[in-house]
Amino acid sequence: MPLDDLLAAASRLTDDTLLAVAIAAGVNLLALATIFFLHRRERSRSRRIAKDLDQSRHMLQLVLDNIPQRVFWKDRDLRYLGCNKALAEDAGLAPGDIIGKTDLELPWKEDAELYRADDREVMTAGAGKPHYEEPMQKADGSVSWLETTKLPLRDADGTVVGVLGTYEDITERKRAQSELLLRERAIESSVNAIFITDHTLADQPVVYVNPAFERITGYAEAEILGRNCRFLQGTDNAQPGIAHIRDAVRAGRAAHTVLRNYRKDGSLFWNDLHIAPVLTDDGQVTHYVGVLNDITDTRRYQEQLEHQATHDALTGLPNRGLLMDRLHQAILHARRYESTVTVVFVNLDRFKNVNDALGHDAGDRLLQAAARRLQACVRATDTVARLGSDEFILVLAHQVAKEAIPVELQRVLDTVSSPLELDGKELYVTASLGASIYPQDGQEAETLLQHADTAMGRAKKLGRNTFQCYDAEMNHRLNERLALLASLRHALARDEFVLHYQPRLVLATGQIVGVEALIRWQHPELGLVPPNDFIPLAEESGLIEPIGAWVLETACQQARAWIDAGLPPMHMAVNISARQFRRRDLAQLVRTVLQETGLPAALLELELTESLLMEMEEAELSVRALKALGVQVAIDDFGTGYSSLSYLRRFHVDRLKIDRSFVREMATRPDDAAIAKTIIALGHTLKMKVVAEGVETAEQASLLHAERCDEVQGFYYSRPVPAEDCARLLRHGRILLARAC
Ligand code: C2E
Ligand code: MG
Ligand code: MG
Repeated sequence: MPLDDLLAAASRLTDDTLLAVAIAAGVNLLALATIFFLHRRERSRSRRIAKDLDQSRHMLQLVLDNIPQRVFWKDRDLRYLGCNKALAEDAGLAPGDIIGKTDLELPWKEDAELYRADDREVMTAGAGKPHYEEPMQKADGSVSWLETTKLPLRDADGTVVGVLGTYEDITERKRAQSELLLRERAIESSVNAIFITDHTLADQPVVYVNPAFERITGYAEAEILGRNCRFLQGTDNAQPGIAHIRDAVRAGRAAHTVLRNYRKDGSLFWNDLHIAPVLTDDGQVTHYVGVLNDITDTRRYQEQLEHQATHDALTGLPNRGLLMDRLHQAILHARRYESTVTVVFVNLDRFKNVNDALGHDAGDRLLQAAARRLQACVRATDTVARLGSDEFILVLAHQVAKEAIPVELQRVLDTVSSPLELDGKELYVTASLGASIYPQDGQEAETLLQHADTAMGRAKKLGRNTFQCYDAEMNHRLNERLALLASLRHALARDEFVLHYQPRLVLATGQIVGVEALIRWQHPELGLVPPNDFIPLAEESGLIEPIGAWVLETACQQARAWIDAGLPPMHMAVNISARQFRRRDLAQLVRTVLQETGLPAALLELELTESLLMEMEEAELSVRALKALGVQVAIDDFGTGYSSLSYLRRFHVDRLKIDRSFVREMATRPDDAAIAKTIIALGHTLKMKVVAEGVETAEQASLLHAERCDEVQGFYYSRPVPAEDCARLLRHGRILLARAC
């Protein structure tokens, strides 16, 4: 019986050896050893108490079979003499089937030599080999880790007769240990700061911090442990996040917040903090684990992005998006408190000139300076925004009394307009301002902005460097213009234009030598619209180009038709607008029209205004190109534009048309008479014919005659009339001969 053998062997063990076995097998083996010991005493006392012995044996087997440790004993040949149930299970055998086998025949045969080497070592040394770890292949193929202790088994003489061993499967413990180690390493190497506070102690001190915590806060572990975490807030403890954390801790909950914390050197960092309770099995909070993340850089980057999205890069002022936001807010506030909001549209005057003359860099600096100046003249609660280019908006959120508005606007104007030094040059920048006021000028942000813009536009028209407040009448006119523009776009296609013709005659004889084609718009609702009411609009919108081409073509066709009808040939004068004149292909257009209509070039006269010739750099070339076609060129409205006379010489124009305004007052204002007289003399000197426009009275006619003006045009002779009426006059050849001087 193997157990008997063991008992026999045990009876031969010294007390010391037994003690060693007990220690090696742990607490349960201690029990085993004790039983051994008891059993030995029993045996030595009385072999006869067989019943007791049986009982003891039974007890011993029971104990052996019920302890988790594996127990075995082998002979000198390393054959198993016996083992407990747990070991037999590892081998997948019944305990009895192990006896007589060596490790080489058991499932762990791969590792057998390892065990056997240990067995031999113990037997040879005669000394135990306690608590060492080794692997073991089990019957089911899995590998376990064992903690083994081996002792030499001796007989009564103390001779080593075998080996007694015990081992425990520590696979699970080892795994748990390495997991724990991994977690500890993970926590230690985490980039997030981690800390643990003890909630069983007063004031919940910190009991653990990882290296990241030290790195982020700048405090060493020793300076932190034992303190409550609130020291990181310094005196900045009126933060909503703090209350949030406090409430969560009180309720034993997890929480997340962002706090302003301070490093050891006093610098601020944004702490993205997560805390979670550590609970016992019965739900008691013993600790809190906190994860602290320094999000200062992310925050700063976010703030930068937000700033970029809402501010103008050049001036740092709020952009349109933020402006609209602030304006909405200001309107809401004013609505609630029944106050006002003043919106001021600021546009720098002739900013383009600065850009062109001094370069974009200087232009940028000018805008920056203007931004600073505008900011300086508003209150902290007001907004200065840049819409783009040289456009700024002020939102005056404070109540401005109606009477005070001009004062306030003048102050803004003065601030912007004071001389500015740029690259050592003194620059005089002015601005045009337009204001609209909530609630009277609009209820919505967009409307107020639009109305301030309209008012600013009027300030520009009034000569710049001034301000205007919005008024509804102004808006009405604007809307009218917009409506007019809309219908102007279709006028050509709907054939709504007509030409009237005004004769031009030789003053001395009354002979008609030409007609001027003057456009009218037969508007379905407004009736006959005069050119001054729509030509500027057509000019601005670009519609003048197709309209002008239509006029040229129609007038030439008409002149040709009159010739074909046997009427005496005469000049057909056509007005050319600035935009038409600026087109490089004007001469080409004229040539084509002449070809198509068959009108001799010499009978076409193009009227250009004085300012048009002055403003355009290539004017001389263009005039030359036209003259090369053989057409006549007249300067219209002479005397009203710039007064540089040198160009007159250069252009070789055929006719000067004295502006109506001088003719009108000739009889009453000596100055105007003198101007008319001078123009006539000038024209003659330069070998040009001089035409007086707008002659309305006999008196004007005789004064002009006295100054030897060549030709005249005016209501006194004929108003501009439709083609058929004009044809009658032309057939006549002369107009009101009685009136001719
Ligand atoms: P403008 O070229 O100086 O034409 C003369 C204007 O004086 C015409 O006005 C004519 O009706 C007016 N007028 C002539 N005699 C008298 C007079 O005795 N008393 C008064 N008070 N006015 C007189 P209208 O037809 O209203 O044309 C105004 C302006 O519109 C023209 O001034 C011209 O600049 C422009 N315009 C007319 N037709 C055309 C056109 O086909 N193309 C372009 N681009 N402009 C045109
Ligand atoms: Mg004209
Ligand atoms: Mg004119």
